[in-house]
Amino acid sequence: MTLTSPVWHPFTQHAVQGDVPTIVRSEGAWLEADDGRRIFDAIASWWVVTHGHRHPKIIAAIQQEAARLDQIIFAGFTHPPAEQLAQRLVEITPDELTHVFYSDSGSTSVEVGLKMALGYWLHVGEGRRRILALEGAYHGDTIGGMSVGERGVFNAPYDPLLFDVSRLPFPRAGAEQATLDALEQACRSEPVAALIVEPLVLGAGGMLIYPPWVLAEMARICKAHGVLLIADEVMTGWGRTGTLFACEQAGIVPDIACYSKGLTGGSVPLAVTMCRREIFDAHYSTDRRKTFFHSSSYTANPIACAAALANLEVWQTEPVQQRIDALAATHTRALDRFRDDARFSNVRQIGTIAAVDLVVGDAGYLADIGPRLYAYFMARGLLLRPLGNTIYMMPPYCSTAAEIAAAYDAIAAAPEMLTR
Ligand SMILES: *Cc1c(COP(=O)(O)O)cnc(C)c1O
Repeated sequence: MTLTSPVWHPFTQHAVQGDVPTIVRSEGAWLEADDGRRIFDAIASWWVVTHGHRHPKIIAAIQQEAARLDQIIFAGFTHPPAEQLAQRLVEITPDELTHVFYSDSGSTSVEVGLKMALGYWLHVGEGRRRILALEGAYHGDTIGGMSVGERGVFNAPYDPLLFDVSRLPFPRAGAEQATLDALEQACRSEPVAALIVEPLVLGAGGMLIYPPWVLAEMARICKAHGVLLIADEVMTGWGRTGTLFACEQAGIVPDIACYSKGLTGGSVPLAVTMCRREIFDAHYSTDRRKTFFHSSSYTANPIACAAALANLEVWQTEPVQQRIDALAATHTRALDRFRDDARFSNVRQIGTIAAVDLVVGDAGYLADIGPRLYAYFMARGLLLRPLGNTIYMMPPYCSTAAEIAAAYDAIAAAPEMLTR
């Protein structure tokens, strides 16, 4: 990129950002720049690409649908890709999730989930308003998403706009009961509308993993108090944690579930918020004030729905689960070398996601460790965006063992670079 580009990039401080590569082609787990450089996409282009870039079946479906339909107004109209996709989503998710609301990003799927929850309580005549969320959570960058997410430098300027939520401590290993007690306490002390969680792993919060039994207990406590559970599976969905959806591992069914990122295999933007019948029914009325007042212009874009249908087809017809299992096993083997290496700590993994923390003595140092590591990896043709001192991998499922091994070699050599 030249300094004259009018583009303002996301999460980018242009005053310190170096040259930005111009990507002209993507394929499988690789990005190719205009200068011929090849970059291994070890974070699946910010967690969206599941099978690999430009999966042929998904691209073909996009092309075919584009020959028939572009955007169609979705209020008062419908179209085959949206109908078929909703049908398929209802089939592959638990029976209790009966309705599908379309939007176009993870953040909007969360906003929709929060609005569904508040609408539900208002329309059933119980004005429950309090929302609970986990410390360290990330639920997107819209106002509602930021409100339920962790507060900090990323959203401080917008603080006056953010609504108040009650925070539960992250269920740290050995201190899980404190989270459950805090949830129980919050549910007893005031009328809680909903608890929103990233099931099993907090992504942007630092790839913090907690066990399925804790999620199951949270669901049980919510149920006991009539509190709606919103599962933000935007990152965890579509195989990332080893199962199609993370909630499966805890044997729970949320009241509201948000899916996006891998919904189209990472090809084009689309999101859905699914909910139980009771939530739809609470809005079902001849009283127009009970209408669910939410829409994006590009709701249920037919081309995006076709891409998502093709993604489901890939799941059905290709050995996706085997690829996920193989990738997970590759991570497990590779992580071994970090376990008794004192330069690393908190070696952890869930399914296709693996993370290690770099042990850094000086906290002031921590501030620029992320960008320094990023530059170091980029110089090696490796796309990794460490979260502070947390280095994580979340590669496309088509990544080979050799590609993963090379990435781990670069990670293992990173501490040396930092001392230079
Ligand atoms: C990425 C993410 C979001 C936001 O999704 P966008 O498509 O970037 O708006 C919300 N929740 C979680 C858990 C995410 O990881």
